[in-house]
Amino acid sequence: MSSFNYIAPVTVEETLSILHKQGSNARIAAGCTNIMPDIASKKITECLLVDISGLDELRGINVVDNRIKIGALTTISQLRHSEVIEHSASVLWQACSQFADPLVRNRATICGNMAKPSPAADGVVPLLALEATVTVESLTTGKRELPIEEFLAGPGKSALRPDELILSVSFKAANDRLGSFIKFGLRKAMAISLINIAVVLELNGKTITRTKIALGSVGPTALRARQTEGFLIGREITPEVLSQAAELVKSEISPIGDIRASREYRLHLAGVLLRRAVEAAMA
Ligand SMILES: Cc1cc2nc3c(=O)[nH]c(=O)nc-3n(C[C@H](O)[C@H](O)[C@H](O)COP(=O)(O)OP(=O)(O)OC[C@H]3O[C@@H](n4cnc5c(N)ncnc54)[C@H](O)[C@@H]3O)c2cc1C
Repeated sequence: MSSFNYIAPVTVEETLSILHKQGSNARIAAGCTNIMPDIASKKITECLLVDISGLDELRGINVVDNRIKIGALTTISQLRHSEVIEHSASVLWQACSQFADPLVRNRATICGNMAKPSPAADGVVPLLALEATVTVESLTTGKRELPIEEFLAGPGKSALRPDELILSVSFKAANDRLGSFIKFGLRKAMAISLINIAVVLELNGKTITRTKIALGSVGPTALRARQTEGFLIGREITPEVLSQAAELVKSEISPIGDIRASREYRLHLAGVLLRRAVEAAMA
């Protein structure tokens, strides 16, 4: 039998106090697009639902000291309609444009996407390529800042402790970066990514001076393809260089086969999408 209690704190302080007292019995509810399906399918059968949707201090996109700071309750729609995100973090903007459908985007929050992260989470992959930092807080340990790579701990697992709340995610603002996000699913809309990829580039003329490449659904967590990044730095993009990079990226990932795609197909896709994403970023 299911048993739920509900509470709706109105400040971060009150939320932290509830999490401190309740520990793992508490479940933060933000946009509820993951939690509600989990309750409906009885993956969650009892808990105290801590509805944080009234915490207005966790909403919004701000630029502080050349860093873009996104409050935990900012929705995918708000990111998609933000000029700051479109112009200074285009890789994230593209991911938000390909995320679910307008109804889900209006509720789904960026931090709800990363708290118990699917390896295919579309919001997480661009944040990896932007080298984002996650800010969390609890009553016992205060505020902690974690690079998103450290925050991702496994399929559906993050470094978040039961009494911690995600406050925001932030990354360096840059107008001169070129970015590309590609989501490959089994249909054009409302698809879970078979693979998703985010590429951020900086160029000097035609030569790549910096690049960050992140992929999702190719391992237990979304990951950076560091060897491929290293290979591309200092090179001009030619068909030959792209072919070599496409082979290299396959050696850095360990996708599984499941009902959506075989391991071999995902490996093949990774090479194809890397090439397309670099070309799209350059274009
Ligand atoms: C029809 C449908 C389509 C979808 N399509 C996509 C898609 O295209 N791409 C994709 O990546 N995902 C998709 N999703 C999954 C989901 O929408 C996202 O993961 C979304 O970002 C979750 O955010 P939320 O605010 O709804 O999280 P919630 O459901 O409220 O919470 C999710 C988890 O995060 C925790 N949490 C939330 N906020 C915080 C916080 N501030 N601090 C600590 N913990 C927190 C919650 O406790 C819970 O464990 C889809 C879901 C549905 C139902």
